[in-house]
Amino acid sequence: MGRKKMIYYKTDEEIELLRQANLVVSKTLALVGSMLRPGMTGKEIDDAAEAFIRDHGGVPGFKGYNNFPASLCVSPNEQVVHGIPNKELVFKDGDIVSVDCGVVLNGFNGDAAYTFPIGNVSEEVMKLLRVTYESLYKGIKAARVGNRIGDIGFAIQDYTERKHNYGVVRELVGHGVGRELHEAPEVPNYGKRGRGLRIKPGLTIAIEPMINMGKKYVETSKDGWTYVTKDRLPSAHFEHSVAIRRTGVDILSDHSFIEAALDKNEYIVKRLHPATAGVV
Ligand code: MG
Ligand code: MG
Repeated sequence: MGRKKMIYYKTDEEIELLRQANLVVSKTLALVGSMLRPGMTGKEIDDAAEAFIRDHGGVPGFKGYNNFPASLCVSPNEQVVHGIPNKELVFKDGDIVSVDCGVVLNGFNGDAAYTFPIGNVSEEVMKLLRVTYESLYKGIKAARVGNRIGDIGFAIQDYTERKHNYGVVRELVGHGVGRELHEAPEVPNYGKRGRGLRIKPGLTIAIEPMINMGKKYVETSKDGWTYVTKDRLPSAHFEHSVAIRRTGVDILSDHSFIEAALDKNEYIVKRLHPATAGVV
C-alpha cells in the first residue's frame, strides 16, 4: 500500500486536524448505523456516506486510493476487509457488516471502522464482535509512551487468539496515519512484547484488529480487493485512529456517535456498548 519508511510525528495542531477528519468519519459511520437494516445493500450506504462526507467539506479517503472504486469498504460476514459496496448483495437478518471509512479534511486523513450486527445475530457471532471490540481497546491501552509497537499487537493477539481461540489476520495490519492514509509504522495485530518501534509522543496510528471466528487464513476474491476468510467463517473489524500523548492515548475517532445511532435503529437488535464490552 505504498507505505513510507519515515515516521511523521505530529504537532498538537496537526493532531487537532486529524481529530476533525476523524469526527467526520465517526459521524459518517453513525449515519451508516442509523440506516442499516435487512434488505439494504452496500451501494445504498456508500452513496449516502459519500454525500454526507462531501456535505461536511471532506473528500472520501478511499475513493480512488489505489483505484478503489467506492467511499466505504463494506465487508459482510466472511468478508474481512476491503469489500466493494454493490447493489447485488442484500443484507439479511443475522448478518454482520464491517464498514471502514476514510475522510480527507484539511489535508489530513481520518480512518475508523465498525462491525454492525443487523437484526438477530447469533450469540456466537456477537461474542466475536465483543471480543474484537475489546481487543481494540486492549491494543489502545498498550499504545503508550515507553512501550513498543509489538506491545500493541501482543495485547490484541493474546486476548483474541490465545484467550478466545480466534484467528488474527496476518496479511493486513494497522498503520501510521496523517497526511497520508497509510504511513509508517505498520501496526500488526500480532506480535511480541518489547519488540518494534518505541512509542513516542506525536505518533498517530490507526489500530484495527481484524479477527476471524475460525482460522487466521484469508484469501482475496476475484475482484482483487475483497479479503475473505478461507474457512468462510465470519470476521470482525473495529478501528480507531489515535494520537500518542505524553499523558496517555488520545482516541481521535469517536464510536459514541455510532452507538447513539444504533440505539435509535430498531433493526439493530443487539448492541455493543462500551460498558457491556468491558471498555471504560
Ligand atoms: Mg480503516
Ligand atoms: Mg486503517
